[in-house]
Amino acid sequence: MSILLPHLLQKLRTREEAGLMRSRLARTGAQEPEFGIAGSHFLSFCSNDYLGLANHPQVRHAFKLAVDRYGLGSGGSHMVTGHCVAHQALEEELADFMGRDRALLFSTGYMANTGIINALTDTGGLILQDSLNHASLLDGGWLSKAESCRYPHNDCAALNEMLSKSTASHHLIVSDGVFSMDGDLAPLPELIETARRYGAWLMIDDAHGIGCLGASGRGIAEAFAFGGCTATQSELPVLVGTLGKAFGSSGAFVVGDSEMIEYLIQFTRPYIYSTAMPPAVAEATRTSLRLLREEPWRRQRVQDLVIRFRERVAGLPLQLTDSTSPIQAIILGDVETAMRASMTLAQEGLHVSAIRPPTVPVGTSRLRITFSAAHTDAHLDRLISALERVSADVSSETQNLLRYRN
Ligand SMILES: *Cc1c(COP(=O)(O)O)cnc(C)c1O
Repeated sequence: MSILLPHLLQKLRTREEAGLMRSRLARTGAQEPEFGIAGSHFLSFCSNDYLGLANHPQVRHAFKLAVDRYGLGSGGSHMVTGHCVAHQALEEELADFMGRDRALLFSTGYMANTGIINALTDTGGLILQDSLNHASLLDGGWLSKAESCRYPHNDCAALNEMLSKSTASHHLIVSDGVFSMDGDLAPLPELIETARRYGAWLMIDDAHGIGCLGASGRGIAEAFAFGGCTATQSELPVLVGTLGKAFGSSGAFVVGDSEMIEYLIQFTRPYIYSTAMPPAVAEATRTSLRLLREEPWRRQRVQDLVIRFRERVAGLPLQLTDSTSPIQAIILGDVETAMRASMTLAQEGLHVSAIRPPTVPVGTSRLRITFSAAHTDAHLDRLISALERVSADVSSETQNLLRYRN
């Protein structure tokens, strides 16, 4: 007899029957390309630790020193007693790095996104979201008193059309910078132009871009600089980054105009009503930021791996998404094919996750591969030879299907 209400139990059963149950694996060591799970050894291509900073000796050392100084917990929200000089210093350094007036720290990216969207919109407003936006952005829209709508992925013509018909009192355009499941970039210059034309605000969540893209790692705002798009503070007023990815840490931040940050401090509920991140995390993240700035070879290494990966996969009958970021997806279509491919790789000792609905649209189940500066050339070779086996599998499957249809 289940304790769940019948309709909840039904949801669980339906998910089981569709083969869409998710399971968790407990890693036994640090976040590194190679690690153990349940007694087996794996080479992983699914971490967001793009620059290999999560287990960096200097970051660990900074954390240990800070724990001795500040203890573990922050003891309260930023408004009461949780805010400390470590947070303050990290905020100043992030603002300087991103070339903005001010930065504001959050404990997670999910909280930053839901909180900021809510704080910046109100009854009578309209939030326009890319259809492939991260769940935290979409959820922020649903929580807001403003209306929400979604425009087709990266389709600025459709976005313009929606804005031209809108009678809302204010508009917020929201997009991922680098799309988390496809790895492609938002069309930033067009989004800026659209926002300008309709007097809308623009918010970009560059969780996967900051640290990785642009010569100095400032993310999507810098990636388009060659095309002359400078993405100034007034053109791109709300820019969010997370610390759990390229920074190898935990938490998130928003950067922008001083008065906007002051407004967010006063009115962002997940900021006000939540415990500040541990000061030692802030302190260790300062070291991550320093390494990220001083060691551009980490970004170049990831870029180099991505270029070579794409060249070598181009010779296989596998469909890659249009991505220059460390996120590389191989679209396989149905859930079973993606799961089988992930299993084939697991048998070779490779950990690559199969991404299925509802995380991605039905019919676009995929392998999602991410690269890190910590991957070696030998790691890349192992991935490619395992993918050769996957592609042989996939193409014989397709041939069987064609035979069956004929
Ligand atoms: C990971 C991610 C988030 C959430 O950040 P957390 O700090 O993990 O909560 C938000 N947006 C995007 C695009 C992400 O990939």
